[in-house]
Parts: sequence; C-alpha cells; structure tokens
Amino acid sequence: MIPPGFTAGTNPWFRSGTWPTGCWPHFRGLQQLSRIDLALETSDSLNIVDFKTSRSRWSAEQVAESSGQLLLYSQLAGDLASKPVKLSFVVLTKTKTPDVSVHEVAFDARLLDRTLNIIEHVWKSISAGNVYPVPSMMNCPSCPYRKRCAAWTG
Ligand code: SF4
Repeated sequence: MIPPGFTAGTNPWFRSGTWPTGCWPHFRGLQQLSRIDLALETSDSLNIVDFKTSRSRWSAEQVAESSGQLLLYSQLAGDLASKPVKLSFVVLTKTKTPDVSVHEVAFDARLLDRTLNIIEHVWKSISAGNVYPVPSMMNCPSCPYRKRCAAWTG
C-alpha cells in the first residue's frame, strides 16, 4: 500500500516531516519537498526512478556522482514507506542509435550523510548572502539563470 503523504506514479510529490531526530540534528525542523520522476510499487518494494538524458553512456563514476539525489529521495520515501525502497537511474543516451540503460543505486549511509552536509553548507552560505558565479562548461549552457548570472557584479 502506498504510504500516506506519497503518491505513486509519474512525478509524485513527497514531503518530509522533520529530519530524523538525532541523525542529522542540523536539519531538524527543515522540510524537504521533492518531485521525483517515477515511483512504482511492487509486491515487495517501492521503486524510485530518476530519468536522465546523456550524450554518452553513463559510467559507474557518473552513477556514483549523481547518486546523492536518489539517496535523498530514498530517505524521504523510507520515512513514509513500509516496504524496502529500491533506487535506479534510467539513462537515455542520445547517440546515433539511442540507448536506454538502467543503473541501480544501493543505499549508502555515508554518501547520504555527505550529501546532507553539502546541502547544509550551501544553505548556510546562501542564508549569509555568500553567493557568486561558479562557471562550469557542464552546468552553464543549460542554466536558467544565465542572464542574471552575467549581470552579477559582486
Ligand atoms: S550561469 Fe548558472 S551555472 Fe553558470 S555560474 Fe552562473 S549561476 Fe552558475
């Protein structure tokens, strides 16, 4: 049965309660609102899927680098679901002959903790007004804030 606060299907929203007391006390009282690409319930698990597109096939390193996003979803769903949560990326590779591959992501408490710590530091910096451009060939071309970023003078 789909847990309360969680709607299975395409693009379900789910919202955390407070962060687990004692696990990440620096997040206590904050809420996370997430919209995932797909949630599928089977008889023995809740499967959370994130879709990606790529110009080349994903390597194991790319899966590992991106897995923080799914781990955050898993924590949220884990708080709500009564079944084990399974995580995967489905990657559409936009090569001459398109390819679709599935990459399962195992739960990793250390990586989840690292991701939460990164979020905490970024949020503290934003709250303190400590923001500045960090240009990157990978992120800037598709960034929706390019005009505002280019207008930033310090
Ligand atoms: S264009 Fe976007 S991604 Fe690039 S530095 Fe500016 S804000 Fe960051």
